[in-house]
Amino acid sequence: MNTQVLVVGAGPVGLTLAIDLGRRGVHCTLVEKKAAPEFLPKMERCNARTMEIFRRMGLADRIRAAGLDRRVPMDVYIALAMNEPPLLRLPYPSVAEAEEQTAACGDGSMPREPYQLISQYTLEPLLKSVAEQLPAVDVRYGHEFLCLSQDERRATATVRDPDGRTREITAQFIVGCDGGASAVRKQLGIQLRGEGNLLRLYQALYYAPDLFDRIPIGDGPGRGRHYHIADDRATFLIMQDSTKHWTLHAVVDRPEAMRAQFERTIGIPIRYEMLYAGEWKQNLLLADRYGAGRVFLAGDSAHLMIPTGGLGMNTGVGDAIDLAWKLQATLAGWGGPSLLRSYEIERRQIGDCNVGASRYASLGRRAWRSQFRPEIRNATPEGEAARENLARVANVEQRKTNEMIGAELGYRYVGSPVVCDEPGGPERLFREYVPTTWPGARLPHVWLEPGRSVHDVVGDGYTLLRLGGTRADTADLERAMRATGAPLDVLPIDACAPRDVYGYDLILIRPDLHVVWRGNRPPSDPAGLAAVAVGAAPVSAC
Ligand SMILES: Cc1cc2nc3c(=O)[nH]c(=O)nc-3n(C[C@H](O)[C@H](O)[C@H](O)COP(=O)(O)OP(=O)(O)OC[C@H]3O[C@@H](n4cnc5c(N)ncnc54)[C@H](O)[C@@H]3O)c2cc1C
Repeated sequence: MNTQVLVVGAGPVGLTLAIDLGRRGVHCTLVEKKAAPEFLPKMERCNARTMEIFRRMGLADRIRAAGLDRRVPMDVYIALAMNEPPLLRLPYPSVAEAEEQTAACGDGSMPREPYQLISQYTLEPLLKSVAEQLPAVDVRYGHEFLCLSQDERRATATVRDPDGRTREITAQFIVGCDGGASAVRKQLGIQLRGEGNLLRLYQALYYAPDLFDRIPIGDGPGRGRHYHIADDRATFLIMQDSTKHWTLHAVVDRPEAMRAQFERTIGIPIRYEMLYAGEWKQNLLLADRYGAGRVFLAGDSAHLMIPTGGLGMNTGVGDAIDLAWKLQATLAGWGGPSLLRSYEIERRQIGDCNVGASRYASLGRRAWRSQFRPEIRNATPEGEAARENLARVANVEQRKTNEMIGAELGYRYVGSPVVCDEPGGPERLFREYVPTTWPGARLPHVWLEPGRSVHDVVGDGYTLLRLGGTRADTADLERAMRATGAPLDVLPIDACAPRDVYGYDLILIRPDLHVVWRGNRPPSDPAGLAAVAVGAAPVSAC
């Protein structure tokens, strides 16, 4: 069997990659060893950048409809138990409130789409059904990748089908989206490095249909998404998208102990069923390489983060959309040799950065948890002092987990062979997002009119933005770009706001909305710039 791209693993990253390849007309086969998506808890938050990506794929509305109701608050609580007044409440806007804030914001500092809480067990079947409807995508559950070989022209995978027969799938490229234990990565002999096995916890999933309406915290119902219990077991309750399912994480010695832990956490009698309990480990690991030859790695196969900060899947979705258009360009013949090479250069630095952001957030969590004292529950001056102290530290340290907008939106590809970088450049800030069109950065979202953003009018190929009514003659650059065979749109935007935020008259952006080049005059060497953009020339040609 032959295909253009073989994607191994139908987690959220493999599914996103297959969909983006499919909508770009690339023939791909997606193999997944499970017989069907499983109802097991894992991620639950698509961050703002991921939702922008899903919007460009035409999926944002479907994902919101399947996920948490847009009016439910996203507050985070720290408490001794759910039936006691909270020690700390960190308020965060619901999707509806965040959309209102975005609508009123004109300075480029907010994302086009706010985050969305959707449980992985809801997201995966949704993405699967989208992938299955794309004519170019062949989705095969019950197919396990076993091993691979490759030469200069193709890569071949051996896969076991649901009947136990092995078969070969030959592809131009293979992408391993097969999670932390990636067999594809092992086949390539690529190591994960960093800090493994930092903490072992149990996670359990509960069906508790009445809890949402009866959340006893504070004056009740204290609705929010995360409830951290101030104890010595790292107990942490998470609302899932239906509001009827909840997960609890805690350091206990056996899975059955997660029942008593849940009951202690809730503090009032409640009807519930424990659907699952299993162990998981915290890791901060990054692959040495993001591929070899015709084989690439994306998602958890290339990086493992502590969920604190919610960057794991979201980083993987970023990998997927960076790789999809580069594979398409290479298969279509207009992508030069530097284009696929740039995948590892661009995405490994973001994997590294986000492993760092996850470490930073998790150290914050550890810092306030280290303030736990056994007397914290006592109705004594010592007990009160322990509560006040923990809340004070948590008010600083817990925010590191929940306020990661810089890591989410502000990442920029430095040293990429397909970006005309400028010397210097803004620092990487985890907590703060400062809109910029510095080459390599994501184009900030700016409204053209209410409800219509620059993001909404940018197509799936390269786009040359002509801003603020510029009269610059860009005919040579347009000709040079078209001569490469790459798709190019030229988009004049006369409104003042985008020019004010972007700071330049001319900006060339890539299919993934990242800036290749900017200037107020046409480039001195348009052919050189076009060659860099499509990966056909050294970056010194800019
Ligand atoms: C408790 C918890 C909470 C989390 N919360 C968040 C969050 O809020 N936000 C966030 O961004 N991230 C979060 N994460 C991380 C997130 O779940 C992962 O980063 C994400 O699942 C990675 O997606 P993936 O597609 O790369 O890998 P996986 O989801 O691991 O998918 C890999 C797929 O490959 C398949 N596979 C494996 N081997 C083979 C093979 N040999 N052949 C065929 N198929 C194979 C597997 O069956 C699986 O379906 C959380 C993780 C945990 C544990």
